[in-house]
Amino acid sequence: MTTPASTAHDTTVDLLVVGSGTGLAAALGGREAGLSVLVVEKTSHVGGSTARSGGAFWIPGNSALRAAGSGDSVESAAEYLFDLVGDSVPQERWRAFLEHGPAAVEMLLRTTPMRFSWAEGYSDYHPERPGGSAAGRSCECRPFDASVLKSERRRLRPGVLSAPVPMPVTGADYRWMNLVARVPRRAVPRIARRVVQGLGGLLLRREYLAGGQALAAGLFAGVLRAGVPVWTETALVRLTTVGDRVTGAVLRQGGREVTVTARRGVVLAAGGFDHRADWRHHHQSPALEAGWSLGAVGNTGDAISAAQEVGAGTALMDQAWWFPAVAPLPGGSPQVLLAERSLPGSFMVDSTGRRFVNEATDYMSFGQRVLAREKAGDPVGAMWLVFDQRYRNSYVFAGTVFPRMPLPRAWYDAGIAHRATTPSDLARAAGLPPEQFAATFRRFSELAGSGVDHDFGRGRSAYDRYYGDPTVTPNPNLRPLDLGPLHGVRVVLSDLGTCGGITADGSARALRQDGTPIDGLYAIGNAAANAFGATYPGAGATIGQGLVFGHLAARHAASLPSR
Ligand SMILES: Cc1cc2nc3c(=O)[nH]c(=O)nc-3n(C[C@H](O)[C@H](O)[C@H](O)COP(=O)(O)OP(=O)(O)OC[C@H]3O[C@@H](n4cnc5c(N)ncnc54)[C@H](O)[C@@H]3O)c2cc1C
Repeated sequence: MTTPASTAHDTTVDLLVVGSGTGLAAALGGREAGLSVLVVEKTSHVGGSTARSGGAFWIPGNSALRAAGSGDSVESAAEYLFDLVGDSVPQERWRAFLEHGPAAVEMLLRTTPMRFSWAEGYSDYHPERPGGSAAGRSCECRPFDASVLKSERRRLRPGVLSAPVPMPVTGADYRWMNLVARVPRRAVPRIARRVVQGLGGLLLRREYLAGGQALAAGLFAGVLRAGVPVWTETALVRLTTVGDRVTGAVLRQGGREVTVTARRGVVLAAGGFDHRADWRHHHQSPALEAGWSLGAVGNTGDAISAAQEVGAGTALMDQAWWFPAVAPLPGGSPQVLLAERSLPGSFMVDSTGRRFVNEATDYMSFGQRVLAREKAGDPVGAMWLVFDQRYRNSYVFAGTVFPRMPLPRAWYDAGIAHRATTPSDLARAAGLPPEQFAATFRRFSELAGSGVDHDFGRGRSAYDRYYGDPTVTPNPNLRPLDLGPLHGVRVVLSDLGTCGGITADGSARALRQDGTPIDGLYAIGNAAANAFGATYPGAGATIGQGLVFGHLAARHAASLPSR
């Protein structure tokens, strides 16, 4: 049983975990190591961005990868990270992640009801680099029955997308569902199986969830089973110290402050500063608008400032898990775009009407390209994703607009979607220079017709092709646009959360600016500086590091070697 939020009180535990996303892995690891653990969560929901996510995790060499015959190994991943990340961060960080990743997955298998599978073919984001894998190393939780949460189910943070009928949609399903109108033989049996699982489960009083919902529900189920209290609506205010050591924290619940003493340590897992506009403008870009982040609403950098107050250093504050997304409706959030940029019959332009990027590149690299342009004094301005009617008839858009459906009326009313019969008319509607846009349109058609994107290399990488349309040859990411109805949808630079934060070592211990560890303080997930520097190695690298460093923090606090 969890302790209801209303019962926050002064207490003493071994391990205090602040934040209920990947922090739950620290709680599970700590409990398994015999520690008394308390989790505190600022909002009324458990799960943070982890619950809103796709739920993929990138932990090379783990047992699910081995069981599925992926052929992956920690050694090949080390070659990859050496090439990709190298010394841009202390190697100790990503080497510890690799060394202990498989043990962290085993810990989760022991302490939760979750089972994992390999998302075969979900390529690393830089598969052509030495050690990179086109077959991929990303895993996810198998559809998970959330009815095990019983009355605690209501405290699980809801996901971002919901299927039109109750059914679990895994990452692997998502890829084929997008292509249902193009490859029904691959997609329909998958969809049918999930509908049966979803609706059939309901008849048996089971509720199957997938993606981040499954992962967060599975972690939460493990925490409940282990008897770890989760105090929601309870926020970290500041850390307490004796001498140089962190001894606990002051928490606020409903206007009341309580003090929790943590004998073994405090794990800061309170996410990044996704929704702290002043920091984002200062460290990242003044062009980022409040509300553009897809990260969970409670992530306002609280743990990072609390750690700074006790002398912790920070790094990579200019970084986020950038993610281009459909511009929000007034007062709303951006809408998720993932495969859409990779599918043939579409391209993107900046406010000058020119292409500016390989549209199908991974979302982190995409965002870095946009920000590099801004830093160089040549901002991209408004970005538009342009596509033809055949594209609209073929693919799901923004996870909710199914093939042949019109784009939502509200998008047109808000000026984030336009429709026209000629390139020039579309350009005029979207405020783009018509002549330049028409020239881009012609140039793209020429390249797409040849199957080779000489300008930006779209379709060259196995990652690009994963979200392409396999029925389109020779390049599954390229097709000239038809003349006729054309559509333009405004895209903004959103993100999945920030990834700069507290500097930490290979045991997740928070570090001072001089590199010495702060006794009793750990930082994991987006509260810590990305263990992969400014890179995103593969789908699930953010949750992957949260889980692994959660495990390591717990083992260190318990003074046990990782196993
Ligand atoms: C739509 C979407 C899809 C994504 N897909 C993937 C994916 O498939 N794979 C992947 O690896 N990553 C994915 N991500 C990114 C990933 O979800 C996050 O980077 C990751 O979950 C962050 O984990 P965390 O534990 O650091 O933070 P969170 O999971 O956000 O947890 C932090 C928690 O701390 C709480 N908190 C904040 N301040 C305080 C305070 N003062 N006191 C107490 N609690 C506090 C917050 O309310 C929150 O619940 C996705 C993100 C989104 C939005």
